[in-house]
Amino acid sequence: MESLEINTGSKKYPVMIGEHAVSLLGDYLGQLSFTKLLIITDKNVEKICLPILLGNLRSYHPCVFTAPAGEQAKSIDTYYEAMTSALENGLDRKSIIIALGGGAIGDLAGFVAATYMRGIRFIQVPTTILAHDSSVGGKTGINHRLAKNMIGAFHQPEAVFYDLSFLKSLPSEEVRSGFAEVVKHGLIGDPSFYRWLKSNIQDLGNISIGQYETMLAMGIGVKASIVAKDVMETGIRAFLNFGHTLGHAIEAEMGYGKVTHGEAVMIGMLFALEASKSEAGLEFDLESFRAWVEKLGFSASIPYGIEPVGLLKRMKQDKKAVGGTVKFVFLEEIGKPSLRDIDDSRLESLLNNFLL
Ligand code: NAD
Ligand code: ZN
Repeated sequence: MESLEINTGSKKYPVMIGEHAVSLLGDYLGQLSFTKLLIITDKNVEKICLPILLGNLRSYHPCVFTAPAGEQAKSIDTYYEAMTSALENGLDRKSIIIALGGGAIGDLAGFVAATYMRGIRFIQVPTTILAHDSSVGGKTGINHRLAKNMIGAFHQPEAVFYDLSFLKSLPSEEVRSGFAEVVKHGLIGDPSFYRWLKSNIQDLGNISIGQYETMLAMGIGVKASIVAKDVMETGIRAFLNFGHTLGHAIEAEMGYGKVTHGEAVMIGMLFALEASKSEAGLEFDLESFRAWVEKLGFSASIPYGIEPVGLLKRMKQDKKAVGGTVKFVFLEEIGKPSLRDIDDSRLESLLNNFLL
């Protein structure tokens, strides 16, 4: 079992990572004073992970709200239904919400907790690899019809219990999606972690519990140290968007759900690494990186039929493009990101080079 402490300045909370981490949740809750517990989960996770969680929390008689799986969990309608469930089950200011699921459930349940009676406590129980990223840091929210993650709040959890036995049932594309963000944390935050990943992870279908423990703890460690320095995302937290400028554009051009977030971000990172070599002096063996990620099952190029014009338009519209200029995260060295303005014509020529 790995344990970390996240410190946001105003709040500290524990992260437990291990094969049976939820077996510790009952004892943890025993030390808190609370009235009711509401577990928020989704239709898939309800079948696979909920029985195990309920088995550990039997004495607390938790209520359960089940959302649709995927991004639909983050609709305004689902949010409203979750609020209804909290009211009907009599949750009060001293109640606790447990988010059991991937990033979508963490974002929904966190936002319900942030807004129910102006804010109650919640605990993250992530069940995807991607959720190593979303379960710490305190960003919660839902989607608007016109744009993703547009309605939200900063609300930190009380604790994170990351039970690695839940990861066994993850479909391979979800493993890939989450792993891309793990690689991102290595590239932006810690050269030795990146080297560890590259030499130890050769088959995403065959990652041991010990390797999961190491990589998720390291990934969370990188995210936590960045968040600790910039809780409200006014500055260096933007480093976490490494690979996301093009990644978001690919997701939006293809239509959400057609490619996983992480798979799009991996292509975005390849682009950002290539751009960093020419623009930021990065010395990096891109061909060996590309060969590694392709061996892991990632696509290293922009999907067929996606036009550069559309991608460029999306990149310029990205919410990180402030005042008309795209803010782009480059790497000067592995572990040393920098946020710089990039003008449209330069972005276009870098993209055209990448597409060659
Ligand atoms: P997700 O929650 O939609 O889960 C992906 C799919 O896997 C779903 O169909 C889910 O039902 C299924 N699933 C979850 N756990 C499973 C398990 N153990 N076994 C089998 N199936 C399982 O998505 P995600 O990829 O975990 O997260 C993506 C979401 O996270 C997006 O909405 C994104 O905006 C958000 N996000 C938030 C932050 C943040 O800081 N708040 C950061 C990154 C991403
Ligand atoms: Zn991401």
